[in-house]
Order: sequence, then structure tokens, then C-alpha cells
Amino acid sequence: MVIDLNKCIGCQTCTLACKSQWTDRGGREFMYWNHVETRPGKGYPKDWEQAGGGWEGDELRPGRLPRLREDYGYPVEFGYEALFEEGEKPLRPADEMAWGPNWDEDQGAGEFPNAYFFYLPRLCNHCSNPACEAACPRQAIYKREEDGIVLIDQERCRGYRYCVAACPYKKIYFNPLAGKSEKCIFCYPRVEKGLAQACAYQCVGRARHVAYLDDKEGALHRLVNEWKVALPLHAEYGTQPNVYYVPPLSPPQIGPDGRPLEEPRVPDDYLVELFGPGVGAALETLREEMAKKNRGEPSELMDLLIAYRHGDMFRLDRPREVV
Ligand code: SF4
Ligand code: SF4
Repeated sequence: MVIDLNKCIGCQTCTLACKSQWTDRGGREFMYWNHVETRPGKGYPKDWEQAGGGWEGDELRPGRLPRLREDYGYPVEFGYEALFEEGEKPLRPADEMAWGPNWDEDQGAGEFPNAYFFYLPRLCNHCSNPACEAACPRQAIYKREEDGIVLIDQERCRGYRYCVAACPYKKIYFNPLAGKSEKCIFCYPRVEKGLAQACAYQCVGRARHVAYLDDKEGALHRLVNEWKVALPLHAEYGTQPNVYYVPPLSPPQIGPDGRPLEEPRVPDDYLVELFGPGVGAALETLREEMAKKNRGEPSELMDLLIAYRHGDMFRLDRPREVV
């Protein structure tokens, strides 16, 4: 999957498309297989980037389990009794909340007139070198040969949670009712019918492309390997993620005299931290191709990213010829 951060408007339609399809009950209330967090921010679960996991060379890097209340903000009961019986308004959580999904929405960083933020949709990366799979002592996690989707065999899982600690993206959740770990299944029942993932299909911003990376006609190959404008998140974690992001362009900073400066609003260093050293060249390519389009010249890259036809964003058939 490629997600274009210049088109994501943070509407959370993808989050709800996923949640209503897969995780709306049964110990999954706090699970967001797909969610969208505001950056800079602590994300969901809180401070997931400081929770370890992933690889250090050939060794698994130690990771910690997110805490239910402090890091997920679960469980939360709302004060319905106070609302209905005592007439107290508005409806408030009965417990003090410490965190939750989208907790730091739109806060970002910086100060007026140079405050900034952008949205970062996150889901399991269906990694090619999944730390979750390596950490499971039951061999319950596997990556499907036919399409690379990483799944948990619910029959084999015993809920040890080594996978939760090992995933550096903290995209596996422990279901306290089932006593098992659960994660994004990349909508495999839809994929098997030739349908795009719910998050991608429902995306209001048309920000998500899905295809096989070795499909030379697909947008993924063009954006990742040819144009090199789509980059993995925290590649240094070593799991070889298969979700890529087109990094966000931003307007220039405003100087003390009210005039625009050379520096972009979102600091380059911050983007390098997330998407690695290729981010500068990717942004430069995006700027050049945007300028071409603005001059009325053709740009294959802009046409790909604009995605005039919704159906062109999803190529779910395997390429006929894999080179
Ligand atoms: S993102 Fe995490 S849960 Fe998903 S495959 Fe990679 S290591 Fe496993
Ligand atoms: S549905 Fe699309 S535009 Fe809306 S938050 Fe999700 S990725 Fe962003």
C-alpha cells in the first residue's frame, strides 16, 4: 500500500471503515487496526516509537507491552447514569481518561505563524521481515506465500503477547476476552474476491493505492521503485515494511517581517526521522513535478497521484509476468 500524505485530510473514514468491519466488539473496543494520528504527536498507543521492538541486526530488539489504561486509554466507561437519572450534562467519561486514539489530534508543533502538523494513517505493514512472526514461540504468525499478508493463526495463538512487544509499530493487540492476539488482516476476505481493503476503498481523500510491488504496471512499482517518492515508515526498525508514504509538502515558514522564508513549515529533520534520508529527494521530485503540472506540462507522477479514476488505484491481480 502507498498512502499519499499530501491527500490525507485526517477524516478517519478509513479508521471507521476498518473498525465497523472488524473490531467493533468482543474485547476489541480499543483496537484500531487502522488509525490516523497527528504528527508531530505521541500517537497510538501513546509513545509507540519509544516502546522498542523490531530488529537490531539479526537479533530481535527488546520491546515493551503498551499499558491498557495509560497507553491505550482503555477501558473507559461513560457516565450514562448521571446523564439519564440525574440529568447531568454533557455526557462525560466516568473514569478519568489518560489517553486514547487520536488524543493529540491537530495539536502538532511550532508556534504561530509557523505551527504545523500533518496526518499519518497507520496499519500493520505486513512486513517482509516481520518481528512479530519471529518472536512467536508457537509459530502462530505466518506470512502468506500468495500475497504477503501477515496473519495470526487463532487456533495456535496462546496469548503470550511476545508479538505485541516485538512489533515496533505496536500494531498487534491483545484481546483480553479471547485471550489471544489480533491484528490487521489486510482485508484478506475482500482481497480474495478482488476487492480493495475497506480502508483504501473508502478513503475520502483518495490517498491510498494498493498493488503488488513486482507489478511493473501498478502504481506501487512506479511510486516506490521508479519515482522513489513513496518511503517506508521507520525503515531502521528492520522489519521491511510494505506500507509506503508519500511525504508531506508544506508551505514556507513566515519570517518576523511577515514574508515567506526558504525553509518549509514541516522541518526536514523531522521527516528524515520518520521516513529516512531519501525524503529530501522525494520532496524535491514532488515539487518539480507539481511545477510542471502547474505550467500545463504533462507529469506522469502527478497523474498517478491525482488518480483520476478510483479503480486505477487498486490492482489486486498478481502480475502475469513476474520479473
Ligand atoms: S507491522 Fe508489526 S504486526 Fe505488522 S507484520 Fe510488521 S512486525 Fe508484524
Ligand atoms: S480516509 Fe483517507 S483521507 Fe481520510 S483519514 Fe483515512 S487515509 Fe486520510
